[in-house]
Amino acid sequence: MRNPQLNRHGELTHLLTLDGLPRDIVTHILDTAETFVPLAEREVKKVPLLRGKSVFNLFFENSTRTRTTFEIAAKRLSADVYNLNINASSASKGETLLDTISNLSAMQADLFVVRHAASGAPHLIARHVAPHVHVVNAGDGWHAHPTQGLLDMYTIRHFKRDFTGLTVAVVGDVMHSRVARSDILALTTLGVPEVRVIGPMTLLPGGLEHLGVRVFHDMYEGLEDVDVIIMLRLQNERMRGALLPSPQEYFKHYGLTEDKLARAKPDAIVMHPGPMNRGVEIESSVADGPRAVILNQVTFGIAVRMAVMSIVAGASND
Ligand code: ASP
Repeated sequence: MRNPQLNRHGELTHLLTLDGLPRDIVTHILDTAETFVPLAEREVKKVPLLRGKSVFNLFFENSTRTRTTFEIAAKRLSADVYNLNINASSASKGETLLDTISNLSAMQADLFVVRHAASGAPHLIARHVAPHVHVVNAGDGWHAHPTQGLLDMYTIRHFKRDFTGLTVAVVGDVMHSRVARSDILALTTLGVPEVRVIGPMTLLPGGLEHLGVRVFHDMYEGLEDVDVIIMLRLQNERMRGALLPSPQEYFKHYGLTEDKLARAKPDAIVMHPGPMNRGVEIESSVADGPRAVILNQVTFGIAVRMAVMSIVAGASND
């Protein structure tokens, strides 16, 4: 079966997952994003690439950063942007997802940005939209958060220049994290030679070794000489039953503190997709310290989302 996000010329027409996305497409997105970064310094922060197009932001799950940066990105591409208030929309009256999409398509939508609690919802939409309509996954359930994965790769490339030779650690609640899944896929696609995953047994999914990552349960060991640390939030909303003794206990073993950070390389960078829980997965002095690039991630997210939307909108689905 053909990759559902590529057209028959191999061009990206939807962005649903980083799974199976060829390295040259990932690199093309990062290179395109790089051309958009300087736009933020200009007086007029706009380019006309999506002029006349209608972008619908459909967030069936909460979001602060992702939703806002998608909106800014679409506006900087000169699109008309519509943010749907889903809680007040027909979904709460029992309308199916596909009926909602058909109705919005009847309003001449060109691009849907979708966040949904159900893994696979953006795939389902992509299978049903008209050929000229594009879908971008803004996070689906536990499954994928491809634009977060891409903006994380942009941030790493910005600070470390090159992926070859890096050791990257992904730390915490990997089990429930769509960010971790997208990051691990992107890191391996881009040729990072050592990807480590660090967390308690109860928060790591099985089969990680098959993805080519090294698994650690001890932070001090796992952080030894790493170049990049990606911290994850404890996704309490997805935990069924008690997987952890207490947030205090978690912080003691897996919270990123100055003394644990001292194990990493002296120029290691610290990342976090947000929202951050200070004192649970990260100490405030680290989150606000010189190694943290957490706010850079947010800023780069705008350029990366501009790149994704302009690339998919430029590819035909016919
Ligand atoms: N904001 C990210 C997400 O939507 C990470 C998180 O919520 O912890 O997946």
